Amino acid sequence: MDSGTPSTRDRVPHIETLAVHAGRTIDSATGAVVAPIQLSTTFEREADGTYPHGFSYSRDDNPNRKSLETCVAALEGGSAALAFSSGLAVATAILQGLRPGAHIVAPDDVYHGFRSVVAKVFANWDLEISYVDMSDPAQLEAALRPDTELIWVETPSNPLLKVTDLAEVARIALAAGVPTVCDGTFATPVLQHPLEYGIDMVAHSTTKYLSGHSDVLGGVLIAGKENALFASARQSQKLGGAVPSPFDCWLTLRGIETLPCRVRTQSASAMQVATFLNGHDGVEAVYYPGLANHPGHAVAARQMAAFGGVLSVRIAGGASTAIAVAAAVRVFTRATSLGGTHSLIEHRASIEGPASTTPQNLLRISVGLENPEDLIDDLAQALSAAGHAG
Ligand code: PLP
Repeated sequence: MDSGTPSTRDRVPHIETLAVHAGRTIDSATGAVVAPIQLSTTFEREADGTYPHGFSYSRDDNPNRKSLETCVAALEGGSAALAFSSGLAVATAILQGLRPGAHIVAPDDVYHGFRSVVAKVFANWDLEISYVDMSDPAQLEAALRPDTELIWVETPSNPLLKVTDLAEVARIALAAGVPTVCDGTFATPVLQHPLEYGIDMVAHSTTKYLSGHSDVLGGVLIAGKENALFASARQSQKLGGAVPSPFDCWLTLRGIETLPCRVRTQSASAMQVATFLNGHDGVEAVYYPGLANHPGHAVAARQMAAFGGVLSVRIAGGASTAIAVAAAVRVFTRATSLGGTHSLIEHRASIEGPASTTPQNLLRISVGLENPEDLIDDLAQALSAAGHAG
């Protein structure tokens, strides 16, 4: 298969096929099956000033970035995509498209870095932001104002794993004429397709599941249809230059080849880990949308193909016991981030800092690709070492 989006006879290829083929070409110079990394920052032009291969200067565009953008647009069923140097660079590019003083509605447990970008990077923009519980559509509806220019959602959310009903958000936003962005980092395009529900754009931190190996930082923004905020984000990408390097794009595309397999395995393992923790006496609460007792379970079951590889857990006994559990793990690694092959655990409030609204006894867990029985044994011994025999 040798072109952007592979075609079968009469239907869109499945995500496993797109993950391997979309955006890739066989190298015409050598026949290499795996694309080369094009490090050149500049491309030859004709005497008349035209660029026969469509590339002029690497900040503007380059072959590896184009491949990545074509691929993620196909994975989300979007019309176009933009690759950035981090997930937060995506949020920054979107916010740059708003007028000073604009009003935004965002989730009350949005990824804490988003709050920091609004408060610090855009401090002189005088943006007004209403943080609401997005799992309750009535709260979103009540927060909208005539000057609202953006609805930002994140589902499942980080770190409380709240679930937002995407069809409801799209319905409310359409009626109010407000553009929507869904941060789908936890779900990935394997489990959830926000554009299908009428959300305008999807954002991912590709640092997480899409690259999948904890070795490259990046972000992507995918549009269902061209729109003003997407055009402004494109301008910010090409002129502002918060772009991933060709090697970053290459690594991310390489990771995407195994995305469907990884995410399905991680979701199945996370379900086992969540079920174990849910039945443990040392655990006060488990936040995982796959559990039937999760308040967002029914919505998640409707809009997600599985429930993802991240869960959060509140440990009985408070912050010190939670920290003692994290201190005692042997298979899990104590580290921030998620979506890689290694299972990670962290005391979330301490990474979010003094302004954190996350419960002090909460540990966030990213389930990797180890055997789930080994992960469960590790958590059992760590809980026991912290005084919770089980
Ligand atoms: N969105 C979510 C849901 C995240 O969890 C993160 C990072 O943890 C980001 C965005 C930001 O991504 P990055 O660290 O690539 O800037």
